[in-house]
Amino acid sequence: MRSTKPKAKETKYSYSDDYLEEILSDVKTIAMVGASPNWNRPSYFAMKYLQTKGYKVFPINPIVANQKILGETVYASLSELPEKVDMVDIFRKSEDAGEITEQAIAHGAKVIWMQLGVINTKAAKRAEAKGIKVIMDRCPKIEFSRLFGELSWHGFNSKVISSKRRTIGSPRTSVTTGETKAGGNNTGEAGFETRAIHSGAAPDPVTGARSTPIFQTTAYVFDDADHAASLFNLQTFGNIYSRLSNPTTAVLEERIAALEKGKGTTCTASGHSAQLLALLPVMDPGSTLIASTRLYGGSITQFGKTFKKFNWNCKFVDFDDIDAVDKAARQPSVRAIFAESLANPGGVITDIEKLKQVTNRIGVPLIIDNTMATPYLCQPIEYGADIVVHSTTKFLSGHGNAMGGAIVDSGSFNWAQNDKFPSLAAPEEAYHGLNFFESFGDLAYTTYGHAVGLRDLGPTMAPMNAYLTLMGIETLALRMQRHVENAEAVANFLDTHEAVSWVSYAGLPASRYHNLAKKYLSKGAGSVFTFGIKGGYEAGVKFVEKCQLLSHLANIGDTRSLVLHPASTTHRQLTESQREAAGAGEDVIRLSIGLETADDIIVDIDQALA
Ligand code: PLP
Repeated sequence: MRSTKPKAKETKYSYSDDYLEEILSDVKTIAMVGASPNWNRPSYFAMKYLQTKGYKVFPINPIVANQKILGETVYASLSELPEKVDMVDIFRKSEDAGEITEQAIAHGAKVIWMQLGVINTKAAKRAEAKGIKVIMDRCPKIEFSRLFGELSWHGFNSKVISSKRRTIGSPRTSVTTGETKAGGNNTGEAGFETRAIHSGAAPDPVTGARSTPIFQTTAYVFDDADHAASLFNLQTFGNIYSRLSNPTTAVLEERIAALEKGKGTTCTASGHSAQLLALLPVMDPGSTLIASTRLYGGSITQFGKTFKKFNWNCKFVDFDDIDAVDKAARQPSVRAIFAESLANPGGVITDIEKLKQVTNRIGVPLIIDNTMATPYLCQPIEYGADIVVHSTTKFLSGHGNAMGGAIVDSGSFNWAQNDKFPSLAAPEEAYHGLNFFESFGDLAYTTYGHAVGLRDLGPTMAPMNAYLTLMGIETLALRMQRHVENAEAVANFLDTHEAVSWVSYAGLPASRYHNLAKKYLSKGAGSVFTFGIKGGYEAGVKFVEKCQLLSHLANIGDTRSLVLHPASTTHRQLTESQREAAGAGEDVIRLSIGLETADDIIVDIDQALA
C-alpha cells in the first residue's frame, strides 16, 4: 500500500531476475499484511492473482479480523496464523514495515516482500542480518507476470526473443544466452535488427504459424464469471474486447517498446490519436502543455486549437531557446513538455537532454515524437525522454499503406512525486477509484492507456494495420539506411543547385543542427527535409506539379519519394507567422526521400526545377 509518497531516488531497488524468480518459485505460502476486502485496492488485486497462481495466501488485517477475503479467514496479526508461512508480503506504510519485520523474524519467515512504494532500509538490514531475503518497492503480482511470460501478450517489453511456440508460464529458450529460463526473461539485449524481426512475436501456440496471425475478432470468451470479473477488475492480464486490446496489436506494441527500449506501448489508430492518449492521463482541464513551435502542422492545430476544447492549454515556445522553455515551464499549470526529436518538416533537431533538465526540475514528463527519426536513428529514452510517441503511419509501417500510432512508456517517471497527476497516482474515477500507479507501478501508464484511454476514447488500431506495421518494422533498419543514403545524395545535389536558395537538412555540415545530429542521430539525419525554391509560393506550387516520379501528397516515410508544398497544403490553416515558425514559409518544399535509385530521384527533381 502506497500511503506515503516515494521520493524519486527511493524508487530504484534493483534485484536480478534470477533472484526474484528463485523467490517466487520457492515460496508456497504468503501472509499478506494489510490485505483489503475492497476489490479496487492493490492488495486485493495481488491476493487474487497470487491465489490463481497456486499460492496459499493468509490475509492479515485487524480491522476485518475473522471475516473472509477471497475465501480465506482474515487474521489480526502474524502471531495468530495457524501455520508458519514462507513469505510476509507488506502492504502497509514504510514506517510500519519495521514492526512487521520484527514479527516476521519472530515468525520464522524466509522472505519479506515490501510492496510498491514500501521502503524501509533499516528493517531490510535487520532481516537480512538474520538470513531473510528482502525485496522492497515491488509487487509480486507484477514480477510474477513479467518473469513467467504473461505480460508479453499485453504490449509490455518482455525482452524475450524466441522461435519456439509460446505457452504462458512455461520456460522458453533465450537466443542470446542459449539457456532455458523460466519466463525466458534473461535474454539480455538482442540487437536492433533482431528485435525488429522477433520482439513480441513467436510461433502461434496452437497452429505453429510463424508469421503473426491477424486476430480479426472483436471479443474474447471468458472461462467463467469469475474470470470475467478478474479481467474487468484488471486483476488478470487478458483480452476482453478489441477496443482495449488485441493479440496482433499486442505483438506490435511489444515490438515498438523493445525497439525504443521502453517498458510498454499502447498502439492507436493514428499518430494524432497517440498524442491525444499520451496526454489524457497527464492533462486536466486548465493544465498547460509546453510544445515546440517546430512540429508537424497538424500537431500545432491539434494542440493549439482542438485540445483547447478540453480546456487543455498549449504554449508554443522556440525550443532552440532553452531559457524561454525554462521560463514558460515555471507556470504551475504545466504538466508536460512535448517536442519532435527530428522535426517535421524542417530538418530541425531537438536537444533532448536540455529539455530533460527542465522537466526534471518541475517534475513533469518529457514527451518526444520520434516519428521522423524512428528508433533506428534515435532512441529518445536513452537521453531521458519519459514517453515517446509515434505516427506509425510513416517509417515504421514504411509503405504508405497503414495508419497507426504508438505511445511508448519508459517506465521511469515517478507519477507520485508530486500532486500533478491524479489520474495515475490518486483514485481514478474513470476506473472505480483505482490508483493505477499504486497498483501497477511502472506498468501504470501503459495499463491506463488501454484500460481508460482506448476504452473511453476508442481510437483503436485495426489488427490488419498492426500486421502491416509489423511487416514494415521487420525491414526498418535496412530501409532507414537506404532512406538516409538517398536523402544525403539529394540534399547534396540541391545544395549547389542554382534554383535553390537554401537546404535545411541536418546531415549537411553547414546546418546549424549538424552537431546535434551527430549526437542524437549518428546514423543519419533522416530522409525528410526542406529546401527553399527561388520564386516563392508560385514557384513552389509549379515545382510540385512538374514532378513525375515524386508523388505530390501529404505523407512522409513511404518507400516512394514524396513531395509537398506545406504553405499551400498541410500548413495552410496556420497564420503566416506560425508557418514561418514551423519552417513552412511560402518558398518551402518538403521532400520525403524514398527508396528508389538515387539518380532517378535527382533527375526528376532536376527536370521539375528546370
Ligand atoms: N507526428 C508527426 C511528426 C507527423 O509527421 C504526423 C503526420 O504527418 C503525425 C504526428 C500525425 O500522425 P497521423 O497522420 O498518423 O495521425
